[in-house]
Amino acid sequence: MYHHVKQLMYTVKIGDPDPRFGNMLLEQFGGANGELAAAMQYSVQGLNCDDPELKDVLMDIGTEELSHLEIIGTLARMHLKPTKTSRKAAEADPLVAIAGGGGVNLYNSQGSAWTADYLKVSGQPEVDLRSNIAAEARAKIVYERLIGFTDDQGTKDALQFLMTREITHMKAFMQALDNLGKGPLEIGALPPTPGLVDQFFNDSTGEDQYGAADKTPAWAVANGFKLVDSPAFHPQEMELDGPAPARKAKRAGAR
Ligand code: MN
Ligand code: MN
Repeated sequence: MYHHVKQLMYTVKIGDPDPRFGNMLLEQFGGANGELAAAMQYSVQGLNCDDPELKDVLMDIGTEELSHLEIIGTLARMHLKPTKTSRKAAEADPLVAIAGGGGVNLYNSQGSAWTADYLKVSGQPEVDLRSNIAAEARAKIVYERLIGFTDDQGTKDALQFLMTREITHMKAFMQALDNLGKGPLEIGALPPTPGLVDQFFNDSTGEDQYGAADKTPAWAVANGFKLVDSPAFHPQEMELDGPAPARKAKRAGAR
């Protein structure tokens, strides 16, 4: 169950309102990487989670994201306040000013409605946790950019708080992923095809008529990848059916 405490998780104070900046803040209110998307993604994943400990982590962080939504909504509202009365301010966000009366609503900065399509919910813990780590990384970089676009110290402080918490969440999701005890490439139950899994397809080979010098990174080979040059021109190099001997036998039989 949820309980609303009538106090912000972080007290927001701003200097002069900046309606254009208020519009940018809506990315973190009703945008793809925003707080509602984070809250709903983790809460719905938590609802579906059978592991009681991981479920708790997902519900805890999902609930904190709702508290972030409250902070970012309050902050955006403060910056958008002049759109209630000033024609010039209203031009910063006509949708907010005309349809919403100067208050926030679940749209991004371009006026696109929030959508459940933003959410990644797979029902597989090692997949969901990776989606969450990526979501936190996106939220972090959006906050960083927002901080770079305001000179208002109170606004910067609130955004710094929110940005920091996203790194904390990222750390928690990374540790939860480690705790599953699966290898970094173990997703689901079925193993990948041996041989094929270690082949790096160099799909941009050729200099001459094919263009500039090839730039396949040294790490691809150094870290156990077997380089296959231009598989489109020699598909027999692709280990499609597993280890080489088995593959040859199967192909011979098929002819
Ligand atoms: Mn957040
Ligand atoms: Mn977060």
